[in-house]
Amino acid sequence: MNDLTLIAAASATLPDAVFLGRHLIGGEWLGSADGAVFERVSPSHGVVVSRSALGGVAETEAAIAAARSAFDGGGWSRASGKARAAVLLRVAELIEADVERIARIETLESGKPIAQARGEVAGAADLWRFAASLARTHHGDSHNSLGPDMLGIVLKEPIGVVSIITPWNFPFWILSQKLPFALAAGCTCVVKPSEMTPSTTVMMGELLVKAGLPAGVVNIVLGHGQPVGALMASHPDVDMVTFTGSTAVGRAIAAAASGTLKKVALELGGKNPQVIFADADLDQAADAVTFGVYFNAGECCNSGSRIIVHEDVAADLVARVVALSRKVAFGDPLNPETQVGAIISAAHQGKIDGYVQDAVEAGAEVALGGGALQIEGLPGQFYQPTVVTGVTADMAIAREEVFGPVLSVLTFRTMEEALALANDATYGLSAGVWSENVHTCLEFARRAQAGTVWTNTWMDGFPEMTFGGMKQSGLGREIGRYGFEEFLEVKTVAMRVGRDTRAKWVRG
Ligand code: NAD
Repeated sequence: MNDLTLIAAASATLPDAVFLGRHLIGGEWLGSADGAVFERVSPSHGVVVSRSALGGVAETEAAIAAARSAFDGGGWSRASGKARAAVLLRVAELIEADVERIARIETLESGKPIAQARGEVAGAADLWRFAASLARTHHGDSHNSLGPDMLGIVLKEPIGVVSIITPWNFPFWILSQKLPFALAAGCTCVVKPSEMTPSTTVMMGELLVKAGLPAGVVNIVLGHGQPVGALMASHPDVDMVTFTGSTAVGRAIAAAASGTLKKVALELGGKNPQVIFADADLDQAADAVTFGVYFNAGECCNSGSRIIVHEDVAADLVARVVALSRKVAFGDPLNPETQVGAIISAAHQGKIDGYVQDAVEAGAEVALGGGALQIEGLPGQFYQPTVVTGVTADMAIAREEVFGPVLSVLTFRTMEEALALANDATYGLSAGVWSENVHTCLEFARRAQAGTVWTNTWMDGFPEMTFGGMKQSGLGREIGRYGFEEFLEVKTVAMRVGRDTRAKWVRG
């Protein structure tokens, strides 16, 4: 593997101070009642980087009670859009002033490259700004077609207390896809980050307090899916749960929420195809395929993990992708030159490798990589950039989320075949199409079963464009105006105004 671009551990980057995380409940920073804590070992550097209070039922109940009381008190839920926007804008400024500190712990807990983490934290500030603009500009409808003495108003009101449950792959960014939009709508929240990456959510809590958000409007509980997340999904005082994570846990959350019929918004997995037609700009496509599969070490719901390429250009494209893969810098996430960092856990690394080995046993071929990667000076786990060719639609590697730096290559001859392969998935999160012919692109875009279709690009257009999945990739939408609307309840007000010209119901 010595023809890969590998970045060894930069010396003198560690040890770091261990970050200590506590719950934020009703405006107070608290440890757990029983003193329990959990630790996060960096997946790249193999040392403890954070120690967090371990929440249970008592902390979750207290956080939900605080959010309920803050919502019902009306201080935030009935505040003007202008007042809410002012707080969100202050948060955006505070994030921007703190990018380095937040990005560093994000990198140490998740294994993602520091340059990417900096970009995500700075990008999150933009989500807070965007949400602030919605707080001031959103509106309902009016109806003046009901007759001369009737007027109808459709009010859009905050839905209430929202549980926010987030995954480990983009902890700060995904929190910012949800939280500012819920706050802009006037909701109050209980947040649970992943137990793998709790610290940047705690840092967000610190910034919210600094920005002057009233106590109880946002509460944070640190801990595991059971019991914390499960209670946040089932609790009768919660009005909505918004979750990003695996499809299996999404199903469990929907089931738990059904007891009280609360609203559920789910952003789940993907098995996203990039379809490359023979007339595509192969130079651009190869670069985007390489980015799509290795970004965040492939631990990305939007990973372009399967390409479906026209057989006339398949060999050419694969050769280009393999050549580019060798130039992608894998290595120490703390080095600003690194483009791909560590895999989140040893167990997950084993799962990734299992998909590759199963595919080989089923007849696929490894054109590059296909095993663990040793990085000098780093004890954590890394995986080689991997390209698997000869993949067929029935293989697990083509159907399931690998969530690693592994590309599956399938081929097609006609548009119908390309669409059949692209849509042959239980998931429907995103898809891509590459062609110089606008008719080809638009036909594919209209017939693809995916919440987002990128055309001659990959992973562009946020936060103005909304995002979400079809099929088992999710329910509802996130970011953009549609994402904001998820946090609003619609209320119809039908009014009689002016002189009543109708006959009375009671005669005589
Ligand atoms: P996960 O489903 O294991 O965990 C996500 C969160 O749910 C964590 O906070 C976890 O503690 C919590 N949780 C676990 N069990 C729970 C339960 N029974 N009730 C309530 N909460 C529970 O996901 P993960 O491994 O952290 O993240 C990877 C997954 O997330 C992948 O499948 C990926 O595709 C998906 N993802 C989707 C998007 C999207 O926008 N569609 C974005 C990022 C990640």
